[in-house]
Amino acid sequence: MPAKYLASVLFPMAVPEPFDYEFPEGQSLEEGSYVLAPLGAKTVRGVVWNIHEASEKDEARTLKTIARVLDVPPLPASCRAFVDFVARYTCHLQGVVLRMVLSSPDALRPSPMKVFFVPAQRLPPKMTPAREKVIAAAHAGHYSAAELARRAGVSPGVVKGLADAGGLVTITRPTDLPFDLPNPSSEGLTLTPSQRDAAEAMITLTRRGTFAPALLDGVTGSGKTEVYFDAIADVLAREPEAQILVLLPEIALTQDVLARFERRFGAPPAEWHSERSAVQRRRVWREVTHGRARITVGARSALFLPFANLRLIIVDEEHDTSFKQEEGVLYHARDMAVARARFADAAVILASATPSLESLVNARSGRYAHVRLSARPGAAVLPPISTVDLREHPPEAGSWLSAPLLEAMTRTIERNEQCLLFLNRRGYAPLTICRKCGERMKSPDSSTYLVEHRYSGRLVCHLTGYSMPKPKACPACGAEDSLHPVGPGVERLLEEVQARFPTARAEVFSSDTTNNAADVRDLIARMEQGEIDILIGTQMAAKGHNFPRLTLVGVVDADMGLHGADLRAGERTYQTLMQVAGRAGRADHPGRAILQTHQPDHEAILALCSGDREMFIAAELGLREDMGFPPYGCLAALIFSASHEQDVIKAARAFVAAAPVVQDVDVWGPSEPPLNRIRGRWRRRLLVRADRKVDVSAFIQAWRKRIKLDRNVRLKVDIDPYSFL
Ligand code: ADP
Repeated sequence: MPAKYLASVLFPMAVPEPFDYEFPEGQSLEEGSYVLAPLGAKTVRGVVWNIHEASEKDEARTLKTIARVLDVPPLPASCRAFVDFVARYTCHLQGVVLRMVLSSPDALRPSPMKVFFVPAQRLPPKMTPAREKVIAAAHAGHYSAAELARRAGVSPGVVKGLADAGGLVTITRPTDLPFDLPNPSSEGLTLTPSQRDAAEAMITLTRRGTFAPALLDGVTGSGKTEVYFDAIADVLAREPEAQILVLLPEIALTQDVLARFERRFGAPPAEWHSERSAVQRRRVWREVTHGRARITVGARSALFLPFANLRLIIVDEEHDTSFKQEEGVLYHARDMAVARARFADAAVILASATPSLESLVNARSGRYAHVRLSARPGAAVLPPISTVDLREHPPEAGSWLSAPLLEAMTRTIERNEQCLLFLNRRGYAPLTICRKCGERMKSPDSSTYLVEHRYSGRLVCHLTGYSMPKPKACPACGAEDSLHPVGPGVERLLEEVQARFPTARAEVFSSDTTNNAADVRDLIARMEQGEIDILIGTQMAAKGHNFPRLTLVGVVDADMGLHGADLRAGERTYQTLMQVAGRAGRADHPGRAILQTHQPDHEAILALCSGDREMFIAAELGLREDMGFPPYGCLAALIFSASHEQDVIKAARAFVAAAPVVQDVDVWGPSEPPLNRIRGRWRRRLLVRADRKVDVSAFIQAWRKRIKLDRNVRLKVDIDPYSFL
């Protein structure tokens, strides 16, 4: 008897593994095929994960049959292997990871068709001015009747009348069109010799045709983007089918980078992030899976797009902590990008002015190629960074700017140049306290303080988004008008700036003042055109923008990130402040940065001022090595939560008691985290530290099998945690 084969189908839902099915009659099927298959009472979309010979045991089972094979190119093996890896590494269910791949289910159907109106060869004899406008608009592209009327500025009746008279004819075509192809031979800027060397090193790597990771390590403005553009152009020119993925942090707000891609390659890249509409995502997903989207620029979730022929991944600003996904499947997009490249035999370039210690250690040990870019092109130099010791120069009561910083701002504005004040705190004041009874305004269901937002008149929890109007009276003691703001946010800083520089044009740049890409573009344009003198910004202002007349960066509270017991506090402060400082003096105006601090002797601050990155890295790495912390060891966090505090305490303790004893693994906790309650759920944390050679994911999976949690307790596993709250 010929061997019988079965198809294992993985569904994009909370299932741990694929289920077996019989082949459908008369339809061809392969590993990776998208199918519809019966599951319970429903027919559900899934992916054929593998095809295997039926065992004797299988023969005895009655299996359901796959209902239909969808007409979509199969999910490539490299992508399936990546899903398996992510599920195993992050300790999440395989089906839940597949759900991130099937992020646009509509794209599995062919594009919807739509009717468009185009001008007829011959126009009717009776042409009115309104009809002429319609014809002119119809020459500009393919539009529906309603859209044509809108563009021509006429009523829909005019379009209908013109069509009835034979002046317009209809065509039917798919709504989701392929993207324009990028042109690899369009010339970029003339690279400097060191940029040329870096570009050539990148090109050599991508030409290997195998997994090749590299760290592109160059100061802000040294031309890293130009260098990787050259690597992209080379890949596109050599391989007509190659696909390239560029990951950017907070891409929804950095539209100027997309415009740079378009200028360089003559066509906009495919764009993938949460701000895109379902229709736009459907188009990108379909074009990626058919191999027609050549350059895709996206947020971290773009890693899970089903690329058919991925040849190069670029992770720009690789140190950025927003690459860590903190909800759902917890993963770090930089690390997973390297894994994705490994499964696809592709090159991966991690670019940063302040690389993460993880990537630096990989580069130094030779696991990654290390390509450096030191000088800024042309005259621009990195600005000198100095400190103002707030113990010597305390700001006046109720204000936040010290005399030396104010003095520097005055000079800058006199020279008709611009200042950026950096304060990474949204809103008006981070704390609201009752002067009468000392009550601090807290979130009702989380252990967070509410932040006052004066523009909206509300108190807001930045963790959960909860908000309430600011009350007139203290909710604890009832005293009227006793609630008092403590500490500055950007809105409060604006008040001070306006009082001190009444004729200067000052504005706030935060996610509250600019909540969509158009607002950001508008603000950046006004800053570039010199319509703003003092910009007060959160971390949104720290990234990627080039303002030619910005010559002074003032960091209002350089110590802010140094508080707390986060192992990366120093590293993150160094990275953020370096990036902010790099905003000053990009073109032909030399700039400077001033850090207000209470700790001028902190290693991160000293390194920023002396420009001695090596000293800082050596000190940090020494500490990490002593502790066995990343990148020399691995960490994993186990976060338990429950509606009743006693339940969570009991569960975490029982879990610890069941820990397997393994050499080179430490289990710390349970501890009560700073955020001990979120959205009404009480929390406890365990931290696992292990030597690098230990497979922490396997350790945790084995541990989980030893103990059953009560139904009312939830456990979240966070491999390589970045948040310790
Ligand atoms: P990075 O990515 O390292 O921050 P960019 O590639 O964004 O640097 O370059 C910073 C600025 O310098 C950009 O405005 C870019 O157009 C310009 N630039 C970079 N390289 C050159 C060059 N070789 N010639 C002229 N301008 C350049």
